[in-house]
Amino acid sequence: MTETTYDLIIVGGGPIGLACAIEAEKKKLNYLIIEKGAIVNSIFNYPLYMTFFSTAERLEIGEIPFNCLAPKPGRQEALEYYRNIHRYFKFNINLFEKVLNVQKENEIFAIKTDKQNYKSKNVVIATGFYDIPIEMNVLGESLPKVRHYYKEAHEYAFRKVLVVGANNSSVDAALECWRKGAEVTMVIRKNEINSRVKYWVKPDIENRIEEGSIKAYFQSNITEIRENEVEIETPEGKITVENDFVLALTGYKPDLNFLKEMGIQLSDDELKIPVYNPATMETNVKGLFLAGVVCGGMQTHKWFIENSRIHANMIVDYITSK
Ligand SMILES: Cc1cc2nc3c(=O)[nH]c(=O)nc-3n(C[C@H](O)[C@H](O)[C@H](O)COP(=O)(O)OP(=O)(O)OC[C@H]3O[C@@H](n4cnc5c(N)ncnc54)[C@H](O)[C@@H]3O)c2cc1C
Repeated sequence: MTETTYDLIIVGGGPIGLACAIEAEKKKLNYLIIEKGAIVNSIFNYPLYMTFFSTAERLEIGEIPFNCLAPKPGRQEALEYYRNIHRYFKFNINLFEKVLNVQKENEIFAIKTDKQNYKSKNVVIATGFYDIPIEMNVLGESLPKVRHYYKEAHEYAFRKVLVVGANNSSVDAALECWRKGAEVTMVIRKNEINSRVKYWVKPDIENRIEEGSIKAYFQSNITEIRENEVEIETPEGKITVENDFVLALTGYKPDLNFLKEMGIQLSDDELKIPVYNPATMETNVKGLFLAGVVCGGMQTHKWFIENSRIHANMIVDYITSK
């Protein structure tokens, strides 16, 4: 057990956790970032060849320029950038250490990790949403051929691949797999490709569907996954298609239990939005703050790097003004 009482412990070493650390450095706070994986672990786990919808300058933190040749950086360039940010600021960060619990005891937070315990006057939760996939809850979902994360297309080449969903992740995966020789079928709950799909990718997928290169079942849902086939409920009734792999890219959700266990209240509706003051990012637990995409609860498209990097200033300004 360490005796130090930190001014600020930041849970999560994603872009927004790092942005909070930069502000803490500037204000000379005694801080520590605790990250359960590698630095910017969510980006590390993104598809290998993914391109951000944001331009490079909108992913910048600490006013350090993000140079890349194309207007929109890819995963590799973002990893390079955020590693360089750490080289520059030399963060006080513990990697591969998972925070299990945060409890307030006599105005000080006790932070328990899988390695040790810490104390801090303030805590920022910047844990993102990329660790828990939203499941379809259908029979066969636990088969090894069903994946909730997509890395690259090679494994799927010359196989029958069913992609669930019509958002950026699903569309990118469907196009990549098809271009590497997979026979791709999409199962889409609504009657169109999501309007949030990157503007330069949307016509590509729509044209591939229209020409029949990629088969798409709109207003449809998977009802059962078996070893060699999948059953789909379509507007024309139930059909069965042959299948080798299912890419169920149906979204991700923040660890809401983790938030609840530390006393953060969530909205009663299905959005489960955590209670916080939008001017300071402080939750209903005094001294406990939220930053980054975790703030949106199940509304995982509300916050992203571009519009949540500002949380870092708001939190640290408030802490230092207290
Ligand atoms: C495929 C994809 C493409 C995207 N493209 C863009 C884009 O173009 N522009 C944009 O602005 N946003 C984009 N986003 C969203 C953006 O990546 C996220 O908004 C961004 O990663 C959020 O940063 P964050 O720091 O809030 O969370 P994250 O980057 O998810 O960081 C959270 C960190 O917390 C760690 N963590 C979680 N639980 C614990 C724990 N208990 N203990 C310790 N550490 C923990 C995780 O390992 C992770 O490293 C995209 C998201 C996805 C999935």
